[in-house]
Amino acid sequence: MMITTVFLDIDNTLWWFERNSEKALATTFKMMGCGEWCRSYDTFHDHYEHFNHNLWQQYNQGLVEKEVLEVRRFEQALEACNYCCDDVDELAQAMNAYYLDQLVKHDALVPGAVELLQYLHGKGYELNVISNGFKGVQEKKLEAGGMNRYITHVVLSEDCGVTKPRQGIYDYAMRLCGARPEQIVMIGDDPTTDIPGAHDAGWDTIYLNMRGIDCPLAHHTVTSLLEIKNLL
Ligand SMILES: [Mg+2]
Repeated sequence: MMITTVFLDIDNTLWWFERNSEKALATTFKMMGCGEWCRSYDTFHDHYEHFNHNLWQQYNQGLVEKEVLEVRRFEQALEACNYCCDDVDELAQAMNAYYLDQLVKHDALVPGAVELLQYLHGKGYELNVISNGFKGVQEKKLEAGGMNRYITHVVLSEDCGVTKPRQGIYDYAMRLCGARPEQIVMIGDDPTTDIPGAHDAGWDTIYLNMRGIDCPLAHHTVTSLLEIKNLL
């Protein structure tokens, strides 16, 4: 490979979103007193995950605004739990703000994240991140484990106005780092957002398969971050 430049996804590739989000959501449920009217946290959690997933799919396709996603996911989960007070919108906004605040207080990383960044940095690759996650939140995540010291460019969909996997964000990323497509490799855990767009942009792709979902489009597939040392 003639690779000089590495782009990494952030959530569930470097920063262990699933684990950190789980803790933040449970704290939000408790601190907002949801146990008083919702019979179990598990019920709320399952509804939230369902609606959050759907809204993120729409967000990634540019079909819904960030501000709508943030509040709607809580609003829909509250309604599904039969919360029927007039202040549902207000409560959903408060829950979202509390959740985001809690989220970045957790710092579990995907195993091998810092070791991989150290390794790649030591080999002379330029390391960048590319994410659909929210500005202000994503930068804080990169502070975990001191990961930000290895990162040159932080490419966020909010900055360029286009989400992965749409081509605009990859064009924006290439203008920013000044590398040609054949010099770039994308590392990410999402078979629908991380790999297809990078593939179509002409980048090499490494798919981190943590959930046993195949991604035939990826040039390389690994099941742990440290396996990437064998490729780069
Ligand atoms: Mg991800």
